[in-house]
Amino acid sequence: MSIRIFPQVSIPFGTNQATKAMRITCAHCGGLAYFPVATGVNTDAPIEAVQHFQNKGWVVGGDPETDFCRKHSTPAKRKGPKTMTNTAPMADKPREMGREDRRIINDKLDEVYGREAYKAPWTDAAVARDLGVPRDWVVQVRDQFFGPAGSNPLYDQFIGETEHLEKSFRAFAETCAAAEQATVAQRQAHAELTRQMDAYRALARKVEREIGR
Ligand SMILES: [Zn+2]
Repeated sequence: MSIRIFPQVSIPFGTNQATKAMRITCAHCGGLAYFPVATGVNTDAPIEAVQHFQNKGWVVGGDPETDFCRKHSTPAKRKGPKTMTNTAPMADKPREMGREDRRIINDKLDEVYGREAYKAPWTDAAVARDLGVPRDWVVQVRDQFFGPAGSNPLYDQFIGETEHLEKSFRAFAETCAAAEQATVAQRQAHAELTRQMDAYRALARKVEREIGR
């Protein structure tokens, strides 16, 4: 298996906490899934990340262009126009929830749903994001087999803001990188100018010596 590098992002974890996670993006629909990276643990764990994504039904390709979510895991499922909207999976067009989907969501809810409410900080959106399934499905399974969301609109807002901030930071980092590159180019140009000046001065000295002027 070739070593894959997944972008690392910060995702909400616990109350007002965040954890690093490797992110995979479906090349067909832009759907996302995350592999949380525990702090203090070797963060170069692409094999484990690959396994984690594969366990969730993802096809992990040799590069990001060939990563596909469970919904688009086979070429047949990828027929039709790309719906690359770069939105979270919950914004995907709903398709029929299969038995396997239901089981996976059920398992996850078993883990993160407490007494008549989600355990903090879990929400429908967080589960949908974690599993890479539409939020609708999570709502359906949760309503049917568990109970009310008992989630906190404030926390949902927080998740939205976190995503927004992540995007802003990425844009900022890109701007910084561009500025840094410009500085390097400027320094190189200056060095080149200095070299030309030195050569010119040497020539001037030679003229002085040989032509005596
Ligand atoms: Zn997809």
